[in-house]
Amino acid sequence: MPEYNAPLRDMRFLLTEVFDAPALWQRLPALAERIDADIADAVLEEAAKISRELVAPLNRSGDEQGAQWNNGEVTTPNGFRDAYGIYGEGGWIGLAGNPQYGGMGMPKMLSVQFEEMMYGANASFALYSTLSAGACLAIDAHASEALKATYLPAMYEGRWAGSMCLTEAHAGSDLGLIRTRAEPNTDGSYAITGTKVFITGGEQDLTENIIHLVLAKLPDAPTGSRGISLFLVPKVLVNADQSLGDRNQVHCGSIEHKMGIKASATCVMNFDGAVGWLVGEPNKGLAAMFTMMNYERLSIGIQGIGCAENSYQNAVSYARERLQSRAPGGPQQHDKAADPIIAHPDVRRMLLTMKALTEGGRAFATYLGQHLDIAKFSEVATERARSEGLVALLTPIAKAFFTDTGLESCVHGQQVFGGHGYIREWGQEQLVRDVRISQIYEGTNGIQALDLLGRKVLTNEGTLFNIFAGEIRAFVAQVPQEAFSHRLLEALGQLEALSHYLIKIARTNPYEAGAAAVDYLHIFGYTAYAYMWARMARAATGKEDSFHQAKLATAHFYFDRLLPRIESLISAARVGSACLYVLDAEQF
Ligand SMILES: Cc1cc2nc3c(=O)[nH]c(=O)nc-3n(C[C@H](O)[C@H](O)[C@H](O)COP(=O)(O)OP(=O)(O)OC[C@H]3O[C@@H](n4cnc5c(N)ncnc54)[C@H](O)[C@@H]3O)c2cc1C
Repeated sequence: MPEYNAPLRDMRFLLTEVFDAPALWQRLPALAERIDADIADAVLEEAAKISRELVAPLNRSGDEQGAQWNNGEVTTPNGFRDAYGIYGEGGWIGLAGNPQYGGMGMPKMLSVQFEEMMYGANASFALYSTLSAGACLAIDAHASEALKATYLPAMYEGRWAGSMCLTEAHAGSDLGLIRTRAEPNTDGSYAITGTKVFITGGEQDLTENIIHLVLAKLPDAPTGSRGISLFLVPKVLVNADQSLGDRNQVHCGSIEHKMGIKASATCVMNFDGAVGWLVGEPNKGLAAMFTMMNYERLSIGIQGIGCAENSYQNAVSYARERLQSRAPGGPQQHDKAADPIIAHPDVRRMLLTMKALTEGGRAFATYLGQHLDIAKFSEVATERARSEGLVALLTPIAKAFFTDTGLESCVHGQQVFGGHGYIREWGQEQLVRDVRISQIYEGTNGIQALDLLGRKVLTNEGTLFNIFAGEIRAFVAQVPQEAFSHRLLEALGQLEALSHYLIKIARTNPYEAGAAAVDYLHIFGYTAYAYMWARMARAATGKEDSFHQAKLATAHFYFDRLLPRIESLISAARVGSACLYVLDAEQF
């Protein structure tokens, strides 16, 4: 049976040795009173226990049983409801939530690692709680005091859950096309009418209420995305004394039958004049929703890392046990009929690729968590602005690169098992199916690439890029003779030159950015991981134990075997858009 154990050693290494999180927490007053190294350690230990003992055991059975729809009601697989109750009572949904309403106020650096454990243990289960945490974040940032006081405490406790209602059948990437309407009622509420599709956790039996955050258009709203407003629509209306009242007019019409994350209910939601309340300002709903969407983008990126880690752990165990053929240099286990497959170069290539990509991703997620903490808690305005800029620049990379490399890793993990990776028993095929959606939802990876190159690099002519590049150069300048300094600077220089080239060429041809965007995002991702691996290598240098030695060896593998991928990507990104438009639509 597949097993999952949270990679605690690596998480601690990142927090304490690479990013010195305790020192950061100490200097941010809002965090200093809540967390230190010992508390962080205790939280991670407990999270690891929950992921292993409560959540992971439901992964396989959840996949086999799936979520079920019956006459508007959705039933989650056996065990999910009890586990979600325990999880909520433990405060995990509000781990990084606002303490004023019952959240624990923990730093994002810690919560990204916690989320990785949950996705690694059981991606379907994790989605219910991360959607709730994201909805809480948006409500906390944009809703009135009355709405916050009414909804946040029960959501943090896990008694109520959240959902994100954006997509409609004809409006996915282009939300400006949505048709859901919001008509003002006389009491200050709104009547919401329309149909949303693909809504994760839109209906479920885990919680007694579900709080939908819904994008809709007010009468006379401007067309397109400038006319979208955000509404809070509860499944069950809440009385003034906080008790539950009448059922609201929102119902689940059906759930999707899909490739993976089968225990996560993907719902068609019908709003038939449902009562809702405006969150934030009229027609500014998309901007408000971005608070939740940015949270979910990083979170879904982390789904890629979590699934890849699970796949890696099981692939390593299998490769140590499975005996096939002799090692190229001659027998290693003379008493056995064959050697373990971990002796073969190609199996090592797959395992090291998984290890280097997953640990690189974990480092980058923790690094982003650090900047989210600075952006939220620093008392220095310039420092906050700098971190906000970095988070804006790097979030699309986290979403798309973590998930593209997450799928690559899960496919390698499956391959290590040979035919046994294709059948159910070993769990590898489920991971491939479960991770695949992470490239699609929360904005497809193609849309993330356009966001990165178009909005985050071209629009401001590289201002945000220069902050990141400056940080890497300053890092190298501290110890210029280090093993990886030269190659890191070389990759950065190539990315910088490509950025300047695309900034220039995109001014004259509107097709160029779209043609280069996905390759550009990958080049950026590999360069960002090179920065992470250089930081991890510096932290591991001079330490003789096996963990730190393995870190250094993996850093070498990353620089020698994975970073060179940028060479072919750069060639492709520079070719331009013309070759994409030689064929007429009919010629495909
Ligand atoms: C299992 C599941 C769970 C989901 N959960 C939720 C949820 O909780 N809430 C919610 O609101 N939605 C949810 N979604 C919807 C999801 O976010 C959308 O499917 C996704 O954003 C893509 O939209 P679409 O499916 O309409 O594809 P389309 O927008 O039609 O895109 C089709 C293809 O065209 C490409 N494309 C589109 N526009 C452009 C462009 N301008 N330039 C280049 N390429 C472009 C896309 O990248 C994609 O490859 C979920 C979907 C699934 C399958």
